[in-house]
Amino acid sequence: MIQLATRVTQVTPSLTLAITAKAKEMKAQGIDVCSFSSGEPDFDTPQHIKEAASSALAQGKTKYGPVAGEPGLRQAIAHKLNQDNQLNYSADHIIVTNGGKHSLFNLMLALIDKGDEVIIPAPYWLSYPEMVKLAEGTPVIVNTTAETDYKITPEQLRQAITSNTKLLVLNSPSNPTGMVYNHEEIKALAEVVVDHNLWVVSDEIYEKILYDGTEHISIGSLGEEIFKRTIISNGFAKSYSMTGWRIGYLAGPGDLIKATSTIQSHSTSNVCTFAQYGAIAALESPDSPQCLQKMLDAFTQRRQVILERIRSIPKLSCPTPMGAFYVFIDISQTGLNSLEFCDGLLNKQQVAAIPGKAFGADNCIRLSYATDLASIEKGMDRIEKFVTTL
Ligand SMILES: *Cc1c(COP(=O)(O)O)cnc(C)c1O
Repeated sequence: MIQLATRVTQVTPSLTLAITAKAKEMKAQGIDVCSFSSGEPDFDTPQHIKEAASSALAQGKTKYGPVAGEPGLRQAIAHKLNQDNQLNYSADHIIVTNGGKHSLFNLMLALIDKGDEVIIPAPYWLSYPEMVKLAEGTPVIVNTTAETDYKITPEQLRQAITSNTKLLVLNSPSNPTGMVYNHEEIKALAEVVVDHNLWVVSDEIYEKILYDGTEHISIGSLGEEIFKRTIISNGFAKSYSMTGWRIGYLAGPGDLIKATSTIQSHSTSNVCTFAQYGAIAALESPDSPQCLQKMLDAFTQRRQVILERIRSIPKLSCPTPMGAFYVFIDISQTGLNSLEFCDGLLNKQQVAAIPGKAFGADNCIRLSYATDLASIEKGMDRIEKFVTTL
């Protein structure tokens, strides 16, 4: 028996990856599986982005680069944050990381000490609590329900704060619920953060995947005081269909960014140099907006279809997601918990879905509609059959 470090034994392996692996195994055995488990756009990376990276490769951008990122990319991100989000960061307040996940991990290591409490509204992205634990902090989970559209209220936030609270994790648009906080709601949360002198990290990875005219509000844009307490985490994976590229970034106060850069200098060093040139093209090319629009048009259509299908099944319900590409379905009326539901669904109907338990909500399941319409229709036929026979 290997005596593993305590920090590892306290962390739960990703349930999402486990289900996805099981579905893949079934597919490999020739079983016709419908998968709603994917957490990534099903589109290829736009051609102009690939070309920018391959031209950088041809030009020999194959060496170590600055730890915090290529200057041109940091500059482009600063410009983007200013234009899209009304956030005034200079390039030295930005670090390029190996994906949005790595941004958040670096942040936890740089900010969280043993005993520090980090408030995480549930349902949450499953990595947040585990990252906090790896940094030896204490995740404080605040449960929200469909009645408040799975959004944390300022009262709930206030009640969760103790003298050890250091950080609030905010994710809008949300994975897994698809909920988007409006201006009022963000403003009210910002006031609590400022009142209690906390930090807030805003995970804005889905900021561009929005429906029905919904607006994305970046919490740091609401005033000088909240700006000083905000760290932005974002990346290229979702908006530009670049999940495998592994490029994300953090923006925040200079000293904090410097600290994450020190950590990065002893762990991963710089992000793949030529890949960063693809990210510059993603931000700067006039071809990017129309690629995003194409993806959004497809997601919009699928969202409508999947919502209609879910709402025609008596024991299922869900609020209308305003962003990202997930529906978070309440299954309590089926009498099953989320693991039982997803296991049964996979074994009896060969449909892969993610149990809400992974996101801190055992009465729900997550379906991703980052898959083609025909698969959505076929998968929903099977879900309907499964629920009807319960
Ligand atoms: C996908 C995702 C990320 C980051 O993904 P990377 O591939 O590491 O860039 C961060 N937060 C949430 C909520 C996500 O769903």
